[in-house]
Amino acid sequence: MLAADPTLRCVVCYARISFDGRVKDAHGVEDQHRDMTSDAGKLNWLVVYRYTDNDKSASKENVIRDDFEQLINDLGAGTTPEGYPIHGVMAANDDRLYRRPSDWERYLKAFTKHEGRVYHDSNGVQDLYAEGFEIKGLVGVAMSLSETRKKQRRSRNSHRSRAIRGQSVSAWRPFGWEDDKVALRTKEADAIRKAVDDILAGASISEITRQWKEAEFVTSRGNAFQYQTVKQLLMNARLCGYREINGELVRDGDDQPIVGEWEAIVTPKKWYALTAKIRERGRGTGMPRGGLVHKYLLTGILRCGHVLDDGTVCNNKMIGIKANDWLKYQHAYMCKKTVDGGCNKTYKRGDKTDKHIERLVIAKLKAEAEAAASEVPEWGKTEDLERAVQSRKALEKRWQDGEVDDEMFFRNLPALEGKIKELRADQAQHMAKAAAAEAAREDIAASWKSKTLAQRRELIKKAVHAITALPGGKGNKDFDVELLKPVWKSSS
Ligand SMILES: [Zn+2]
Repeated sequence: MLAADPTLRCVVCYARISFDGRVKDAHGVEDQHRDMTSDAGKLNWLVVYRYTDNDKSASKENVIRDDFEQLINDLGAGTTPEGYPIHGVMAANDDRLYRRPSDWERYLKAFTKHEGRVYHDSNGVQDLYAEGFEIKGLVGVAMSLSETRKKQRRSRNSHRSRAIRGQSVSAWRPFGWEDDKVALRTKEADAIRKAVDDILAGASISEITRQWKEAEFVTSRGNAFQYQTVKQLLMNARLCGYREINGELVRDGDDQPIVGEWEAIVTPKKWYALTAKIRERGRGTGMPRGGLVHKYLLTGILRCGHVLDDGTVCNNKMIGIKANDWLKYQHAYMCKKTVDGGCNKTYKRGDKTDKHIERLVIAKLKAEAEAAASEVPEWGKTEDLERAVQSRKALEKRWQDGEVDDEMFFRNLPALEGKIKELRADQAQHMAKAAAAEAAREDIAASWKSKTLAQRRELIKKAVHAITALPGGKGNKDFDVELLKPVWKSSS
């Protein structure tokens, strides 16, 4: 064929499909090869070999792409494994071929080892021998890499460009918003706002989930709320108007979070405080704590103060029980039976115990809040963060301008990114602290009544290590509050 047609070019095609945690790759391997074959026909090129790497992301350091290696090898040798000459290469997209500078360098070296080769990708036919192409390619890798590094998204991705414009990208109406995904649906938005306040005040996600179920809220897809759906909903930056993709805030060129075109439900400050609170509580297993919803206010907080025969104090955690029907009160606390490890000597009627402890704790928290209500100072590292962001920008610019080499660039980049990340975490923590101080200034006595059981328990646990209950005062005798001894936590 070559003898009959000297303009014919024998080319090889390279295709790769990656599943890098994002939406499934739109361009399957077969699609890529089909498109390339069709393009080859138009150019009077003949596809003599197809290289395919599957399920691999070229940007991951430890991934070896078998066919990519084969391609480099064959380009160097000048022929395909069957011995066809290689006059050129086709790729669906240049970022299919190389996502790292080292790949690019090796590829270019192997490609240009032979004269007169042709190259084609989505940008059309390109001259890889041309001066400046090496730099152009490197900038391409840089763009591709900075996009890919953590965020794993492509620059041409319309999902991202929509997000950068601050437009909603969700396929479904988000809970809290109307069908236009911009205006708030009042009833749902109110529920979210209340949930945020409740959680900041100590309510659990399980409680919110239960409340929403009781209020017969369903997700926008019509499903009942589960712990995880509620958690995801609350952790989403959409609540405060910020846009995020895969759990990361989308930022503009100045590193500021992109503000969406939709109405926000809470302020960014509040949302930061909320996520800090949820993370802090979720530390450890990350399992829902739904199993730990307590029925009585002081279960596990009251401890038995009975002195045993050997002179030691029982100190077992007392349990809450439903009181006998003939009693005036609904519940009681008792030290467990001896078979269950308690001494069974201490018993307290629930209503009076709860009331007394609540009164003490409110007084203590009030005194503390007054002391702590002083303003949290401004976050003092704003300039540091700005400087770090500017440094990274400057480094990227100098690298793209060719003033620093790859080695230098990639050696310095991680440190700068680490610093930025660290400062941002610090900033978020500071915002959470400021929000907490603000919350502490509210009128505790007045708001206590509106708090849920878990919120009250949380506040009590914040104030005391435990409350020791001494036996006595049972039956017709007056309830003796002196027999309840709180072990206060010193305010820090
Ligand atoms: Zn006991």
